[in-house]
Amino acid sequence: MDGIQITEPKKLSAISKTENFDSIDSAKVIITKALLLREDFITFLGDERAVYPVIPARIGIGKISAVSAGDNSGFERGNRVFPHPETACGKCFECFQGDKNNCSDFNIAGKNADGFLRDFVVLENEDISLLPPSVNDYTALFIDHVAMCDKVIDQIKLSKGEYVVIVGGDVLGIFMAQLAMYYQAVPILVDNNQKNIEYAKRAGVYYTLFADNKLEKSVAELTGARLAKKVVYMTGSNLNSDIALKLAGEHATVCFAGFGTPSLRVNFNIALIKQLNFICVTNGYGNIDSAINLLSNGACNPTLFNIPTVKQTQAMEKIKEMASTLNYDAESGMLIVDIL
Ligand SMILES: [Zn+2]
Repeated sequence: MDGIQITEPKKLSAISKTENFDSIDSAKVIITKALLLREDFITFLGDERAVYPVIPARIGIGKISAVSAGDNSGFERGNRVFPHPETACGKCFECFQGDKNNCSDFNIAGKNADGFLRDFVVLENEDISLLPPSVNDYTALFIDHVAMCDKVIDQIKLSKGEYVVIVGGDVLGIFMAQLAMYYQAVPILVDNNQKNIEYAKRAGVYYTLFADNKLEKSVAELTGARLAKKVVYMTGSNLNSDIALKLAGEHATVCFAGFGTPSLRVNFNIALIKQLNFICVTNGYGNIDSAINLLSNGACNPTLFNIPTVKQTQAMEKIKEMASTLNYDAESGMLIVDIL
């Protein structure tokens, strides 16, 4: 296996190692495209949660090149597939109980396990999903985003006609709004970045609000003074979490959602006064196949974004350049690498 690894913070190097392909119920996947996310750049810059050395790129797509002998998964050589970005550890208490959805120690690609900036990967069949022809390679790169948004919508029990305030218009926040609309809920997207607000408008989000001191009044007017019963705060945004709590009504549910785990400060005074409920979602584990269906049905439109693409040979240089210019524009910290 040949790839690029982060040997230690701010250092990249080529890596070549042998990967065993002898276990049952597994497949060898040739990676064709990798997508680096902000989290990969945070790992590159230095993250306590990362285990170095580590191959970056949380997301990858590829083609099956071999299946194990006697395999009955139905996978065939040449199938386009999405290898899952997070896999259950198989060792914790929850995994032993068969409750992999609640694994307490997920292997996270590009963080504590190798990501997809490499030529191939060997994975267990259950950690690979088949891609239908209706989901093209570019769209497939966003399966994990949609899976996480779908999981949030499940967990906050968002219903038809209900308002949901989304604080943060990064790519994940805009997908969240699109998916809320697909389920016929009413998203109100808040950001302090005009560029992200424009993206949200282009995505068809009707209520977009600039984060200023009139925000609470505007949401109260929209929701008939009760404020929102459902609020999603995108942890990848740089907005003050007070905004999420202030826009939440009495007994509302506030969900903190994102792939990262930044050190956030939350004002519990507001939470206690309003008796808020909190939920945290950091992955789309368990919702991957549902996300593939949603993308196949056009529930979210990933072609809105302008994400740079480079060949693998240019990846190291581009990663270093982008790491020095990270900001909070929607697609900042996202890079597609063509592997083949
Ligand atoms: Zn586990």
